Amino acid sequence: MKYVGAHVSASGGVYNAPINASAIGAKAFALFVKNQRQWKAKDLETKVIDRWFLELEKSGIQTKHILPHDSYLINLGHHVVENREKSLDGFIHELKRCEILKLDRLNFHPGSHLRKITEDECLTNISESLNRALDATADSDIKLVIENTAGQGSNLGYKFEHLAQIIDKVEDKSRMGVCIDTCHMFTAGYDIRTKEAYDKTWNDFDNIVGRQYLMGMHINDSKPELGSKVDRHDSLGVGKIGWDAFRFIMNDDRMDDIPLILETINEDIWAEEIQALYDLIEK
Ligand SMILES: [Zn+2]
Ligand SMILES: [Zn+2]
Repeated sequence: MKYVGAHVSASGGVYNAPINASAIGAKAFALFVKNQRQWKAKDLETKVIDRWFLELEKSGIQTKHILPHDSYLINLGHHVVENREKSLDGFIHELKRCEILKLDRLNFHPGSHLRKITEDECLTNISESLNRALDATADSDIKLVIENTAGQGSNLGYKFEHLAQIIDKVEDKSRMGVCIDTCHMFTAGYDIRTKEAYDKTWNDFDNIVGRQYLMGMHINDSKPELGSKVDRHDSLGVGKIGWDAFRFIMNDDRMDDIPLILETINEDIWAEEIQALYDLIEK
């Protein structure tokens, strides 16, 4: 079974996310659990939390098909200790917010070296930050889900080896996961346009990272070319990736039972894109 949805708006209150997801026929969704461009958020009010659980139940969407996304400000690999601590504080704050909403995973971008330290040093900083975040939330089982990146600027996570190296230095691997964004994968240089290329890319993923870590995907077409290291999403089928790759995904049992989330650029056609993805499933 496939669970497709989109990164819907939670503005006005987190409970709007399941309402917005249902309105487009989604069986999964992503959301920001707080304003993604600010460090601090006021505590969730009881009436907001109550309404969240009510709307979630009405939507019929299960927790394991919800993929909250952390703030863009957070850089767990920052070379300056004070900045890294601030990021870690923000990250832990978001994890606690997810716990209150009974969410079981948080999707985050690994971090950037900002050309001040080596890739290795930055990856080690990220793993150490994750170990501390896991310690700070030891009372829960929430999973930390690393997203692969396009490799734009100095962002790490564009190679499967980066994801593997981060996980390798995390002590409690049972609480780690990975989210693969198809646009980022493609512009980082992993081709998925033909069955042969798709199989090779995912075999590499299985060998280097491990399929047991795949806990979500972002389903996006790409405006830039293969290997361009530029992060620009496109609507499905009109970018450089094309429909075949999405058909392979919809018929690949590695992607069963995890949130498959659209972050495509025209939200007015999300309902059609979700239906089009389901229509790709071969009976
Ligand atoms: Zn993404
Ligand atoms: Zn992106």
